[in-house]
Amino acid sequence: MTELQKMKRELYRETSLCYQCGKCSSGCPVVEEMDIFPHLIIHLVSLGMEDQVLNNETPWICASCYACAVKCPNDIDIPGIMNRIKEMARENGIKPKRNDIYKFHKTFTEDVLRRGKVHEFRIMMEYNMRLGKPFKNAMLGPKMLLKNKLHFRPPKEVKGFRKWIKKFNQKTEK
Ligand code: SF4
Ligand code: SF4
Repeated sequence: MTELQKMKRELYRETSLCYQCGKCSSGCPVVEEMDIFPHLIIHLVSLGMEDQVLNNETPWICASCYACAVKCPNDIDIPGIMNRIKEMARENGIKPKRNDIYKFHKTFTEDVLRRGKVHEFRIMMEYNMRLGKPFKNAMLGPKMLLKNKLHFRPPKEVKGFRKWIKKFNQKTEK
């Protein structure tokens, strides 16, 4: 069984627990930006409607804030599912319609893979460069610096991160 098939089977198993109460969508802070509500994505996954799921912008808009997951009465890992959908879309060569969303996702994941933690300053710079707008949101920089939210130096690597990545790569290569 390929990784993709395994992923599909796991996704189906997890989402089949959902009884569509809608609590996840009611607490989502970015729901207005989404194509369809998060609970409907879960429903489509449980029905195996792959095309509709993979060609939807909702998983790309998801900010992985976990506000939905803490409300779910069935402990469904909704942000985790959104992330797996994005990975499946990437494996199938599907990108979000909005290019800026894809560029941000790429910048964010590449940075997390460097040390297991994000370096906000680097993300902002790289994202702006990818957009071809080096000074986008530049006015936020001084405000974030004053609030000690922006650091020029990258954070320390998460303990055991290299080992974990090595294991993960070996597993996905099998
Ligand atoms: S909160 Fe959980 S059970 Fe309710 S709709 Fe969302 S995923 Fe389904
Ligand atoms: S994790 Fe994603 S879907 Fe869930 S509340 Fe946050 S943004 Fe919405």
